[in-house]
Amino acid sequence: MIEVKDLTKRYGDHLAVDHLSFCVDKGQVYGFLGANGAGKSTTMNMLTGYIAPSEGEIRINGKDILREPEEAKKCIGYLPELPPVYMDMTVKEYLAFVAELKKVPKKEIKEQLAEIMQMTGIEDVKERLIKNLSKGYRQRVGLAQAIVGYPEVIILDEPTVGLDPKQMIEIRELIKKLSEKHTILLSSHILSEVSAVCDHILIISHGRLVASDSPEGLEKQLKSKAVLKLTALGTLEEVKAALQQLPEIEAVEEAGETEKGVKVSVTMTEGADCREELFYALAAAKLPIMELQYEKRSLEDIFLELTEENQPKAEEELQETEVE
Ligand code: ATP
Repeated sequence: MIEVKDLTKRYGDHLAVDHLSFCVDKGQVYGFLGANGAGKSTTMNMLTGYIAPSEGEIRINGKDILREPEEAKKCIGYLPELPPVYMDMTVKEYLAFVAELKKVPKKEIKEQLAEIMQMTGIEDVKERLIKNLSKGYRQRVGLAQAIVGYPEVIILDEPTVGLDPKQMIEIRELIKKLSEKHTILLSSHILSEVSAVCDHILIISHGRLVASDSPEGLEKQLKSKAVLKLTALGTLEEVKAALQQLPEIEAVEEAGETEKGVKVSVTMTEGADCREELFYALAAAKLPIMELQYEKRSLEDIFLELTEENQPKAEEELQETEVE
């Protein structure tokens, strides 16, 4: 449905998107996850033809977004970071205008708009000027315009930003409902949001794709290597020597000295749980365990782990100049 190959965007010397390649399959919900400044909006703006890539290829339904823009864009509905609404129009006027732009057949407009307004929960405000709506309602109007024309692919840049928790749940429900008939790509910096609605997660950090898997796959990846935090009475060398004899232990790293002894972080090999062997090994070496903590890692950990090293620095952000 969407094929992205070596997609790159440079703003002057700054590499905002760095050779991204991925595919989005039909009928699935994809989550584009990354911290602020990771390159999500830039990527989405390129996917939808808003800005041109510096390098790389984008095909929507087999159509190249640069060579056949009209054909490619026909298949896409887009909610950009800032909803493209006209403040001086009423909700109804604005959506009718969008329907016309998207060439929805005249006789279908009324029924389609009524359906979309009902779906997005904006029926009650349809006669109001958009400038008088709350941020959450404006976001819903933005979402509604992306759905108009029922495009095959719906791309949503941070669709729940500015919504209250109840509205967030409603929009997530709506995304799930839309996914029955549409392919959806949404961006977010909130991991729980992405794992709640998406079939597949793409994690992007500093413009690079650092992980691509199902939420379950990512969790499995995490759990496959358990970590123990251990405090034992002895020196670091003694503890390391005793533990490194165990074949199921991959790494032992110092995690600080405490009053109760030395604290280490122990990584076990994939799928292993050698807490019992570890207990006997340390007992045999006369290194009593004072504390032992089995670390259950969450999806949040993998996100932080994958994105931490690549965080853009605040000074870097400040030095950037607007290019467009
Ligand atoms: P956020 O969640 O904060 O919206 P994002 O993941 O969407 O972040 P982008 O908006 O794509 O990130 O920005 C990626 C990088 O490119 C950032 O470092 C940003 O400052 C930079 N950038 C974006 N647009 C421009 C521009 N027009 N000129 C210069 N730099 C830009």
